[in-house]
Amino acid sequence: MAASEPEFGDQALIACESLVRIYQTGPVEIQALQGLDLVVERGEMVAVVGASGSGKSTLLSILAGVDAPTAGRARVEKWNLLSMSRADRVRYRRHTVGFVRQQTASNLIPYLTARQMVDLPMTAAGTPKAVRRQRAGELLDALGVGQYAGRTPGQLSGGQQMRVAIAVALANQPHVLLADEPTGELDTATSAEVFGALRDVNRDLGVTVVVVTHDPAVSGQVERTVAIRDGRTSSEVLRRTATADDGGTHVIAEEYAVMDRAGRIQVPRDYREALALTRRVRLALEPDHITIRPDA
Ligand code: ADP
Ligand code: MG
Repeated sequence: MAASEPEFGDQALIACESLVRIYQTGPVEIQALQGLDLVVERGEMVAVVGASGSGKSTLLSILAGVDAPTAGRARVEKWNLLSMSRADRVRYRRHTVGFVRQQTASNLIPYLTARQMVDLPMTAAGTPKAVRRQRAGELLDALGVGQYAGRTPGQLSGGQQMRVAIAVALANQPHVLLADEPTGELDTATSAEVFGALRDVNRDLGVTVVVVTHDPAVSGQVERTVAIRDGRTSSEVLRRTATADDGGTHVIAEEYAVMDRAGRIQVPRDYREALALTRRVRLALEPDHITIRPDA
């Protein structure tokens, strides 16, 4: 039976299972990811939320091919992120994923213009000059910063810098865009604009987007939000638009717990506290649901 069982997240674009990343600093071990599961379908836009230190940047660095996991499984398209050769890693980072790092400044080069920065990854990939020129113009236009193509980062606002950074990440037409708190340093209005630009990239260019954010207003705009707690996927919120009797539309958000392949579920703290659930609980299978009771 095991042989015919489909691989976890087989059809998905991104599939992480029981992902572990341990940082060793001297005698101290930090478990940044402790068995994280994540499946992202092609064409999706997913928000990742979680407290500071919960492992969000670690996850994105691994997906970006910048950092390597300690154990578990991580696959993006055909690439196994645990067993990639050095040459494959370079190819992967150049063509499969675009990465916008957490600090805006680390994405840009102070003495280059926006156009030159978008040109750089294409030059590295050996793209002909005419194609590079056209594509840089198109990308900067698509992100609403075409008129600033000749400016250096210092001559751009924070929101404009972020749009340029997104254009740079998309230069080699990756299928996946990873953005780590792209709106973290921006005010509310600018942050909404940048997030709108990410949604355009997802919808118009068909790029699968994984965006880390701590902004609930922002995460409320995507169909799926994945919450990470202590280096594990703890819950997911799915949103869909429903039409009311009067014809108006509203968004329904439903929260789900996430179960891993071994059947483990994290019961939210407030549920545990409300019923004083501790180490042992009683499970009972009912016709269409399962109950969990305190061990009394
Ligand atoms: P988040 O992005 O959710 O704030 P991170 O992924 O940056 O969380 O960090 C998760 C945990 O791993 C934190 O405890 C952090 O201190 C630790 N960590 C991250 N990067 C390193 C590193 N390079 N060396 C040691 N510890 C690290
Ligand atoms: Mg982070």
